[in-house]
Amino acid sequence: AKLKKGLEKTKTSLIQNIETVVCGYAKIDDDMYEDLEAVLLTGDVGLETTEYILQQIRTGVKTKEIQEGKDVVPYVQRCITKLLEENDTPVPTREGTEVIFIVGVNGVGKTTTIGKLANYYRQQGKSVLVAAGDTFRAAASEQLTIWADRIGVPIIKHQEGADAAAVIFDATASAKARGIDIVLVDTAGRLHTKANLMEELRKMARVAGRNIAGAPHETLLVLDATTGQNAVSQAKLFGETVPLTGVVLTKLDGTAKGGIILSVKRTLGVPVRWVGVGEGIEDLQPFSAVDFAAALFD
Ligand code: GDP
Repeated sequence: AKLKKGLEKTKTSLIQNIETVVCGYAKIDDDMYEDLEAVLLTGDVGLETTEYILQQIRTGVKTKEIQEGKDVVPYVQRCITKLLEENDTPVPTREGTEVIFIVGVNGVGKTTTIGKLANYYRQQGKSVLVAAGDTFRAAASEQLTIWADRIGVPIIKHQEGADAAAVIFDATASAKARGIDIVLVDTAGRLHTKANLMEELRKMARVAGRNIAGAPHETLLVLDATTGQNAVSQAKLFGETVPLTGVVLTKLDGTAKGGIILSVKRTLGVPVRWVGVGEGIEDLQPFSAVDFAAALFD
C-alpha cells in the first residue's frame, strides 16, 4: 500500500498521461508517436527506453495487434513491466558476515537508507553493525549515531577527518569477532573527483576484504528519484567508478519522476534492490518488479 501511495504521482503524471495521449488517436499516425515520445521523455523514462518502447509499438502496429490508440496502452504496460523485470534477481543469501557498502552523493538519502536497512535486518532477526565511513562530514556520523541508537545496533566511528579505511578495518574486525550478520557501511558522498572517490572506495574495499572474505559483498548506489536525469548522470559516474551490485532508489514518494527507474536500470544493468517511499524507518521496501508494475497500473 505504501508503494502504491508512493508511486501515485508517477502514476498520475506518467501512466495516465500516456493513456490520455494515445487514446486520443483513433488511428496510429506520426503525431501519436511524437506525442507519446514527449510524454515518456517528460516522465524521465530516458531516451533509450523511450525509443525501445516506440519500437515495440511500431512492431505491434505492423503485426496489426495495435489498430487504434487505446490498443497502445497494454503494449506500453507490458514493455514497462518487462523492463522492470530485467536484472530483477533476488538478493543472494550468504553464510557468515555480509558487508554492504552504501555509496552515493550527499543528500540522496544514504544515512536514512542505512537506518532503514538496519531496522529491516533487525526485524529479520539479524545482528547488524553500522560503520560511519563518511569521516568527512561530522554531521553524517552524528546522524548515523542517532539512527543506530534508535534501532539499538552498534556503530563504529572515528574522529572527523580520520581515514575512512581505518573505520572499515575496525568495523569489519569487530563484526567478525562478534559474529555480526550484516555490516552496513556509510561512505563519503563528496564527488570532487572521480579518481579520488575511486581510490577511497577501493581502499575501503581492500581493507574490508582483508578481514572478511569476499567483502564488500554488495555495493549499493543510492539515487534520489526526485532529481530525475541527474540521478542517471550519477549512476553513470558511479558505475564507471566502482563495481556496483545494486541500486537503492529513494524519495519515490512525492515525485512524478518515478520513470527514472527505467533509465537507471538501463544505464547500470544492475538490479534495483530497494525503494524508499518516505522518511520513516519503515519506508524502505525490497524492490519487486511485479509489485512496482502493479502499483503503477492496477
Ligand atoms: P545523505 O546525505 O545521503 O546521507 O542523505 P540523508 O539520509 O541525510 O537524507 C537526506 C534527506 O532525504 C533527509 O531529510 C531524509 O529524511 C530524506 N529522505 C531519505 N530517503 C527518503 C525517502 O525515501 N523519501 C523521502 N520523502 N525522503 C527521504
